Amino acid sequence: MAILPIRKEGDPVLRQKAQPVPKVTKRIVKLLQDMEETMYAADGVGLAAPQVGVSERLIVVDVGDGPIHLVNPVLVAAEGSVVDVEGCLSIPGVVGYVERAQKVVVDGLDMKGRPRRVEAEDWLARALQHEIDHLDGILFIDKATGITKQEDGADST
Ligand code: ZN
Repeated sequence: MAILPIRKEGDPVLRQKAQPVPKVTKRIVKLLQDMEETMYAADGVGLAAPQVGVSERLIVVDVGDGPIHLVNPVLVAAEGSVVDVEGCLSIPGVVGYVERAQKVVVDGLDMKGRPRRVEAEDWLARALQHEIDHLDGILFIDKATGITKQEDGADST
């Protein structure tokens, strides 16, 4: 595995709509593994492929219960609403409050190309919504209120 450089706000790849992955190939599996390692090395709780410069629909999240890798994730259900603090590895030192669904269902494929459904609440739901936004070129600062600079603190995705 390898730690990849994380693209920062201002890099055009973060504003592109990422392409669907037609097939879970060895290249995709390696990329997901590298994204996982990069996320842990950066002390993050989530990472999307555009954040490592790849405009493809891949995410990894881990809010403390182990890593979840998803290919072509789609938000298929969402309910409730929570406003909480959020940060992003691509926008270091900045946090803000973002309204997200409290509970979501996300469908995608796992690393073996099998269908995978993730039912999530609270922080995991938030991380999934943040990462799926990245795949559509959306950054949390587009939605956040009360944006402030912070040395360290909020978990970043
Ligand atoms: Zn992010």
